[in-house]
Amino acid sequence: MRYYLNSKISKILVIIYLFLVTYLSLIKSIKSENILYEPPNLGILKNNIKYYINSGQYEKDIEKVINKAKEYIYNRTKDLTEEERSKLAVVFDIDETSLSNLEYEYKYDFGFNYETWIDWVKQAKAQPIKPTLELYKYIKSLNIKTFFITGRNQLNENLNEDPTIINLKKAGYYLWEKVYFKPTNTKISTIEYKTNCRKDIESKGYKIILNIGDQYSDLEGGYSEAIFKLPNPMYYIP
Ligand SMILES: [Mg+2]
Repeated sequence: MRYYLNSKISKILVIIYLFLVTYLSLIKSIKSENILYEPPNLGILKNNIKYYINSGQYEKDIEKVINKAKEYIYNRTKDLTEEERSKLAVVFDIDETSLSNLEYEYKYDFGFNYETWIDWVKQAKAQPIKPTLELYKYIKSLNIKTFFITGRNQLNENLNEDPTIINLKKAGYYLWEKVYFKPTNTKISTIEYKTNCRKDIESKGYKIILNIGDQYSDLEGGYSEAIFKLPNPMYYIP
């Protein structure tokens, strides 16, 4: 009797389960029929990005890339003399490669406009991206030359008083051959501008062995033996 009851209850439960599964999949199909295409939701994306950063995964991913870059530099230069290494160059991008603008990004909820950006740059308080700073120090210790190529504009004719230069020094980047600033009101693309700068470096007799940036536009266009891309889920510069 008990067995009979149990099996009856089981059958009822199975029927209820099947009914629910069918009902829910029907609702789902009706919904998806009414929504043909919906791009990713901006609010959800922002939360995901904040989680990526706050969880520490962003910095871990940066470290992974930088460690690979260090390994590459070691292998590329281990058999060279100091004199030979002094003819080699490494190119760094600045924003989200050498300096972090997380404070600005969070303050304006990943929004951007030129006035608030210039105001932020003038404060010269962007923190160093620590793994990149370590890579920079390692490169300097090998007597390899360093260059910065940035999409930032020069804001002061006197380089020593330019906020970007002040910020780089404050962050620990103490010496370089040149910082290339993007000229104001230029119409050339970022790729063309940055490629021209690297061409200029090589025309001076240096061989660029590494170019590191957070945007694909930092890295395309050649004039570097190797390129390394850092993560940046916050903005895109074509
Ligand atoms: Mg950048």
